[in-house]
Amino acid sequence: MKVPFLDLKLQHQAIRTEALAALADTYDNTRFCLGRDVEEFEKTFSTMFGHPRTLGMNSGTSPLHIASLCGGFGPGDEVITTPFTFASSCWGISYVGAKPVFVDIDPDTWCVSPEAIAKAVTPRTKGIVVVHIFGQPARMDEIMAIARQHKLFVVEDCAQAVGATCNGAPVGGIGDCGTFSFYPTKNLGACGEGGAFVSRHPTVMDRAQLLRVHGSPKRYLHTEVGFNFRMDGFQGAVLSIKLKKLAGWTARRRAIAAKYRAGIKLAGVQLPAVPAYGESVWHQFTLLHPQRDALRTHLEKCSVGTDIIYPGPMHRQPCYASLGYKPGSIPVAEATSAHCISLPIFPELADEQVDHVITSVNTF
Ligand SMILES: *Cc1c(COP(=O)(O)O)cnc(C)c1O
Repeated sequence: MKVPFLDLKLQHQAIRTEALAALADTYDNTRFCLGRDVEEFEKTFSTMFGHPRTLGMNSGTSPLHIASLCGGFGPGDEVITTPFTFASSCWGISYVGAKPVFVDIDPDTWCVSPEAIAKAVTPRTKGIVVVHIFGQPARMDEIMAIARQHKLFVVEDCAQAVGATCNGAPVGGIGDCGTFSFYPTKNLGACGEGGAFVSRHPTVMDRAQLLRVHGSPKRYLHTEVGFNFRMDGFQGAVLSIKLKKLAGWTARRRAIAAKYRAGIKLAGVQLPAVPAYGESVWHQFTLLHPQRDALRTHLEKCSVGTDIIYPGPMHRQPCYASLGYKPGSIPVAEATSAHCISLPIFPELADEQVDHVITSVNTF
């Protein structure tokens, strides 16, 4: 039996008729940039948070850039964040000339550690970029308490965690703003690039809306230097269709994760934690194992696709060499990168495939 790490074709075959009809309507009516399809998606997406507004954008990186500007981050400012992440969660900090300050992660959920954040706060600290990694919610209550104490602006990068909750609250609606990616491989994926920005502060939403389209409150008036971060109409149309399926897909991811958690019995393996304070949406199901590479080779022989996410933490990437982090300076993140291996987890996996993954892991 073959189990691919990810197969996007199955999901797109399942919604093909509905998606192509919606795309044809967008095409026939030339609603290419923003427009009704995007507005309808934004409206439905907002209901998840009880926020009045969402801003659809052209990627998950663009709202991170806008978040940094809305947080007032700039040269001379420090922004605390996690090194165990996809690169782009750091880019927003760097784009505006602020300095990312990397701190360690919790050893069980692999999200940024509130204790580590508290220790890293200095008079120059301006904000925190939290990443809900692999769909796991970070400990937002503690992070928000630190932020309140030091008046820090909190960005939640929810690219991997659409629908995850922390003490009943959806991630993205807890911090000062939340950012989402609809890159095709995410839990909610567009047929191309896409992203979104939400904030519970109306003034932040106004500024973000301005920045999204050329700093322009009305046609040919530009009150600040802005961007072209518009979502295109085709993505809005497809995302509205997929958003209706998201709860079902998330339930299936949770069922697969539960099967893995119950079935995997391998000496030396560390399973992902199920935090008591929140609910994961299982963007990845990642294990730690001291012989990760050998385990990966074994799984390959069993026709089980895996991935190493992420093989190198951000504080050790060449692009941040000038920050001067030495090997061993952020130990939990480094050990996690050295020992992590992600198993297939996507809603279309059949139970027999999940069983095959479990058996394959257990026979290592
Ligand atoms: C995917 C991802 C992003 C960026 O999204 P793009 O849409 O590719 O720009 C940002 N942060 C994290 C944690 C991600 O996984």
